[in-house]
Parts: sequence; structure tokens; C-alpha cells
Amino acid sequence: MRGLMWFRRDLRVADQPALAAALSECDEVVGLFIFDEPLLRSKEFGSACVGFMLHSLDELSGSLAEKHVPFLWRRGIPTEEIVKAARDVRAEAVYWNRDYEPSALERDRIAQKELEKRGVTPRTFRDHVVFEGEEILGSSGDPLQRYGAYKARWWERWRSETPGIVDVPKQAERAATVEPSRALPSSADLGYDRIDPAIPGGERAAIKRLHWFVKGPLRAYGTGRNRPDEDGTSMLSPHFRFGTLSTRTAAHTALGTLRQRGGSSRKDVLAWVDELVWRDFFQQVLFHFPRVATEPFRPKALPAWRKSERLYEAWCAGKTGFPLVDAGMRQLNTTGWMHNRVRMVVASFLVKDLRLDWRLGERYFMQHLLDADLAANNGNWQWCASTGTDAMPGYRIFNPALQAGKFDPEGAYIRQFVPELTKLPTKHIHQPDAMTREAQDQFGCRIGHDYPKPVVDHNQARQEFLAQVRHKK
Ligand code: FAD
Repeated sequence: MRGLMWFRRDLRVADQPALAAALSECDEVVGLFIFDEPLLRSKEFGSACVGFMLHSLDELSGSLAEKHVPFLWRRGIPTEEIVKAARDVRAEAVYWNRDYEPSALERDRIAQKELEKRGVTPRTFRDHVVFEGEEILGSSGDPLQRYGAYKARWWERWRSETPGIVDVPKQAERAATVEPSRALPSSADLGYDRIDPAIPGGERAAIKRLHWFVKGPLRAYGTGRNRPDEDGTSMLSPHFRFGTLSTRTAAHTALGTLRQRGGSSRKDVLAWVDELVWRDFFQQVLFHFPRVATEPFRPKALPAWRKSERLYEAWCAGKTGFPLVDAGMRQLNTTGWMHNRVRMVVASFLVKDLRLDWRLGERYFMQHLLDADLAANNGNWQWCASTGTDAMPGYRIFNPALQAGKFDPEGAYIRQFVPELTKLPTKHIHQPDAMTREAQDQFGCRIGHDYPKPVVDHNQARQEFLAQVRHKK
């Protein structure tokens, strides 16, 4: 039997449920990736994502060749291309790992129907999350809307039905006599710029980073996770996004260190795995409540948004006059990455200081982040905007200067991304507009000339936001 393995958010060969099943059930397997033309045109994702994906696909095609699985790629409308590809290679079954975004669910529903109509068997698997939306529910069978309750159930299930790491056969029984596709398209061929992503793509880089992380930063994750000036987090999110690493493998590897002598502390390891639980949590929120993709989870919490191109553009360009916000946005624009603490600060700033609609920020992040993921991005933006499931309380408003002083105490992160401020001594780096005129001259940084004046007064903006929220109650 010949099977077609349709790769989507699972660009790897290890711990790969659909690929494992295809290789076990079929004597010949063909690999396929479809560049989704409408998605490419929509520019919903940015160049960083596209670069990461191409790098990962390139490595994947090599790994598949070692398994005697020829790799094909196509470009077009996925529901049409999958049917054509199954016909062209004469596949009797098509294998894929499930995806839970509303548009992906619809795509897969159509693909399934069209394949079945033609006598081709679709075989689908759980992979993108540790537990799917239907697997973790409240006692009444309803979806859980609070992370705390969800987390408790998640861990119960992990202990009672631990999902194992999937063994993938070494190679196909026979190499399919199918000509592999020519070289992959470049970013430019797909209509995107080439940018040097902060994190290299591919399964090998993912595994290397995971092992480096569990031997080092994981041991102090509880404190290191909050410091943008340090390498204290795993930076694995783009790998989870594109499936170059499975979250099962990651959880087992981290938890495995608890059994090693001199390994990480229980607190640090569990804190890290709890972040993977957050990831599953937001996936199931989107699955059960697809309306969150376009509207607030809790509509009542909304203040009146301001409309200001000027403020929005200053935020996007990292020219707000608030150094931590500017460093974060410039890091995002040039590398596709931003540290979680800084993401929270820039998001709070957009929503609560600038009082702009959180959906503007959400969209901008989707277009620039390397790990751009609808469920995680939407869930976190809604958290920051105080409209989400476990939303940050509306009265909690980050003060960018205080956050910078606490989490980037020497200003190393700010200096890395805001060159105008490099020469400032630490005492001025978090609030340069408070410098006297003499100090500005001395350090070669005139506020309003070399570096922007703050676009808003934080204390005043804070009061205005609070008044809006009180008014709404
Ligand atoms: P680690 O600290 O090493 O955590 C391990 C993994 O847990 C991460 O790789 C990620 O998969 C998951 N995780 C960690 N924090 C969260 C979280 N708050 N929510 C969901 N999953 C989490 N994450 C994305 O993957 N894609 C996004 O598009 C995205 N957008 C965000 C937007 C905003 C406004 C904010 C505040 C956060 C967003 N996050 C997003 C969550 C978080 O910032 C990133 O997952 C994290 O910074 C990735 O870094 P890491 O891999 O080093 O994480």
C-alpha cells in the first residue's frame, strides 16, 4: 500500500505520530507539503516565519530521503492540492496530524470529505498538543475556562495516561518510485523578504537547544525566565509552532531531569512544563470558543479604544520614547523574536497607555513573530488586554520604566536594541527623558532629537485607562 504523509505544523521525523503510522501501515510512503497560496497572499504571517519554515522544510526533505520517503511540495489551495497529490502518486491513504485553528478545522473537514469521495482513506492523529480540547474537560463535561482548573486536570491526565514518545520506523519498507520535487522555493519566490531569524529552524537545532536548555537555564527557570537581558528561557516556541520539536518530547526530557542526580529543582521543572500547559490551554480555548479569534472572550471588560495612526506607528517602529517598549519592538522587527516579559510590557503599553485596540497589536505580532500562533497570541493578547479567560486585572498596568529597572537592571537589553541610548549610564537608561539638558548633551542623546520624547505621560494615561474601566463596570 502507498501512503501520503501531509506535513503541516509537524516538520520533523522524530516522535511523529502520523509519520510513524504511515511508515508502519504502508510499504511505500511519500511526503508532501503544500504552500497555502491564499495564506501566503494574506500576509498574515511575516518573513521571519516563512524563513524559519523554509529552513525546516529543507532539513525535513533530507531526513525523509534517509527514510526512503520522497518529498514533494506544491503551491495552491490546500484542499485542492491534497486531492490532486493523492491522485498523482496513487495514494490509498493520506496521513496527517490534527490542527485546531478554525480555518484549519474547516480545511481538514473538506479534505477529508473529498478524499473519502475518491476512495482514499484519511488517517489523522493528535500531535500538536499534549492533550486535545476534548480530552481535558470539567466535571460537567464543559470546557474549562480558567487556567488553574485546566492545569490541575492536565496534570491528573498526564499522571494517569502519560502520552509516550512515539517510535518512528527507521525507513519505509520500499522506496516509492516517485520523483521528488525540485528545490524548495526561496522566500522571495513566495513573496517575502529574507530576514535573519533570531532562532535557526529545523529539527536538529530544536533538539540541540532543548538539551542545552535542560542542562543549563532550566535549573534556574523560576528567576531566569523574567530577564530579557539573559538567555534564561528555552526559545523553543518557534519549534513548537512549526512542529520541529514535539511538546511530548520536551515535557518528557524536562521531567526526566528530576530523576537525575544533581538535576534541576522540581519547582523550576514544573514551572517550565506549566508553560507547555498554558500552550495547550490556549489551544483548547480557541478550539472550544472559536469566536475569540475575532472578539474578546469577555466583552464587558472593554474600554473605548482610541484611533491614532501616529501612536500606533510609534509603537510599531519602537519610537515611543519608552526604552523597554522600543527595545522590544525593534528586536521584534529585526529578528522576529521578543522575550515574554517584554511582550507583556509592550502589549500592556499598547492597550492601557496608548488605549489602542488590542487586535491591532495581535495582528502586528502575528505578522512579525517567529512563533506566531493564533491560539497563543490571541490568548496572551486577551490576557494583557484584560478581556481573556484568566485576564490580567484591568487595574494592573505595567509601568515600562519600573519593569525595565527590575528585569533589565543594567540596561543591557535596551542598549542592544536602541543604539541611541548606548552611551547613557545605567541611572538614566530606563527613563532618558528625565535627564537634564546638561546630561543629554554630555551623553550625546538629545530627547526629541536623537531619541523620541515619550508619546504619552504614563501616569496620566494610567489614570485615564482606570477611569474608563471603572466607568464600564
Ligand atoms: P519558555 O519560557 O521556554 O516556555 C516554554 C514553552 O511554553 C514556550 O516555547 C511556549 O510554547 C510555551 N509558553 C510559554 N509561555 C506561554 C504563554 N504565555 N502562553 C502560551 N504558551 C506559552 N507564544 C507563542 O508561541 N506564539 C505567539 O504568537 C505568542 N504571542 C504572544 C503575545 C503576547 C502579547 C504575549 C504576552 C505572549 C505571547 N506568547 C506567544 C507567549 C510567550 O511569550 C512565548 O511562548 C514565549 O516567550 C516563548 O519563549 P520560550 O520558548 O523561550 O518560552
